[in-house]
Amino acid sequence: MSGFDYDLFVIGAGSGGVRAGRIAARYGAKVAVAEEYRVGGTCVIRGCVPKKLFVYASKFAEEFEDAVGFGWASEKVSFDWASLVENKDREIDRLNKAYIRNLEAAGAELIQERATVADPHTVLLASGRKLTALYILVATGATPFVPRHLPGHELAITSNEAFHLERLPSRIVIVGGGYIAVEFAGIFSGLGVETVLVCRGEQILRGFDDDIRNHLAGEMKKKGIEIRTQANVASIERSGDGVRVGLNDGARFGAGQVMFATGRIPNVLGLGLENAGVELTPHMAVKVDSLSRSSVPSIYAVGDVTNRVNLTPVAIREGHAFADTVFGGKEVKVDHALIPTAVFSQPEIGTVGLTEVQARQGYRAVDIYKTSFRPMKHTLSGRDERMLMKLVVDGESDRVLGCHICGPDAGEMAQLLGIVVRMGAKKSDFDATMAVHPTAAEELVTLREKWTG
Ligand code: NDP
Repeated sequence: MSGFDYDLFVIGAGSGGVRAGRIAARYGAKVAVAEEYRVGGTCVIRGCVPKKLFVYASKFAEEFEDAVGFGWASEKVSFDWASLVENKDREIDRLNKAYIRNLEAAGAELIQERATVADPHTVLLASGRKLTALYILVATGATPFVPRHLPGHELAITSNEAFHLERLPSRIVIVGGGYIAVEFAGIFSGLGVETVLVCRGEQILRGFDDDIRNHLAGEMKKKGIEIRTQANVASIERSGDGVRVGLNDGARFGAGQVMFATGRIPNVLGLGLENAGVELTPHMAVKVDSLSRSSVPSIYAVGDVTNRVNLTPVAIREGHAFADTVFGGKEVKVDHALIPTAVFSQPEIGTVGLTEVQARQGYRAVDIYKTSFRPMKHTLSGRDERMLMKLVVDGESDRVLGCHICGPDAGEMAQLLGIVVRMGAKKSDFDATMAVHPTAAEELVTLREKWTG
C-alpha cells in the first residue's frame, strides 16, 4: 500500500476511466472510481450506444419501402417514439448495471458523487469528504458546446436532450456539420421529422475526404434533408410551442426544436485542476504527454478531457495503457495514427488513413482509385442511392494511404481496412486478393483504373 487512502482515484466512470480502474485493480492496486452522473459515460449513456439504436430505428422507414420491390406488400406501418425511448432506456439501464458489476468484480470501489481535485494527491467529494491517492486519473470526458452568445440559445437542445424528447417535433433545425449533426439529421429525417441542417462551412464533415463529403451531402438531400452550408444561426425566439430561427443570411423559419451539434468541450470546469497546478491546452483540455501524464506527475488524464482523438475506443486504449504503464510495470504508449472511424450517417461513412488532400500535401505522386455504383439491393428496391469507394495510393511505393467509403456497412469495412492500412498494404495486395462475390466490398479489390478526373 502507498500510505494513501487509494493507489488510484479515478474521476469519471466513462469508457476510459472504467477501463483504467478495472485494469489497475486487476494489477492489485486499491482503486476508487467517482462518478457524478451515471456509470458508463457519454458513449453508453448518451452517445454511441443510444445513437446507434436510434439509427437502427430510423432506417426502418426505408426498409419498409424497399421491401415492396422484393414482393412484400407493405401494410400500413406506424412508429411510436415513446416505445423506442422506453426500450432504449431499458438497454442503457442494463449496460449501466453491467458497467457497475464489472467495476465491482474487478475490486474497484465505486463512489457515486462528484469529485474534484484538491491537491496533487487529494480529491474532495461533493459530500465534503477528502480522500488521498498516490495517483489521480482525470477521465471526465467532454460536454456539448453551446454558443452562449447567441440570443435564444437556451431554447435549443443538444444531443444530451435529443435522447429524451417527450415527442418528436414536426421540424428540427440542427446546427453544425460534424459527426453528431449528420448522424442526428439522418435519425430525425428517417423518423419522419422535416430536417434542416445548418452548417457554417462550405460542406459538411470538415476533415473528411472531399468526395465522401460531397457524396454524403448529395445522398442526404435525396432523402429530403435540407442542408444549408455557409450559414449559421443568428437568433432563436420562442414561437407558439416551438421556435423561430433566424439565420445570418436573413432567412427565418419556424421549427419544433433547434439542436446544437457544434462540437464538444473538455469537462474541466470546476474540477479544481488549478489547485494542483495541472496545465491546460489553449482548448481547455488537460495537457498530457505520450503516457497520458499531466504537468503534475501524480495526475494523469485519458479520453475526451485530453482532446486528442475523441473516440470511445481511443479513450479505452488510453485508460488501459495508463494502467499498464503505472501499475503493470510495462510502458505502453497509444498510437494515435491511422485510427479507423465510422460516421453513422445515412448512408454510413467508414474511413481510415489520409484524405486525398492530405496525401497530396505529403507525397509527390498520389494515385486515386474510386468507384460509385448502385448497391445491388437497390436494383429491386428501386431506391436512387449510390455507394462511393475511394482508395488513396502513394504512386511511388504503391502503399495504400487511405480508404474512404460511403454506403451500407461502411463502418464494418473500415474496421478491417484499418488492419490492412496499418500493416502497410500496397495496392497490389488489394489487387491480388480474391473478391468475395457478390458483396459491395469486392469493389475494393477490383479497382484497376486510376482516376484521371
Ligand atoms: P465536431 O467537432 O465533429 O463538429 C462540430 C461542428 O460544429 C463542425 O461542423 C463545426 O464547424 C461546427 N461548429 C463549431 N462551432 C460552431 C459555432 N459556434 N457555430 C456554428 N457551427 C459551429 O463535433 P460533434 O459535436 O459533431 O462531435 C464531437 C465529437 O464526438 C466528434 O468530433 C467525434 O470525435 C465524436 N463523435 C464520434 C462519433 C462516431 O465515432 N461515430 C459520433 C459522434 C461523435 P467547423 O467544421 O467549421 O469547425
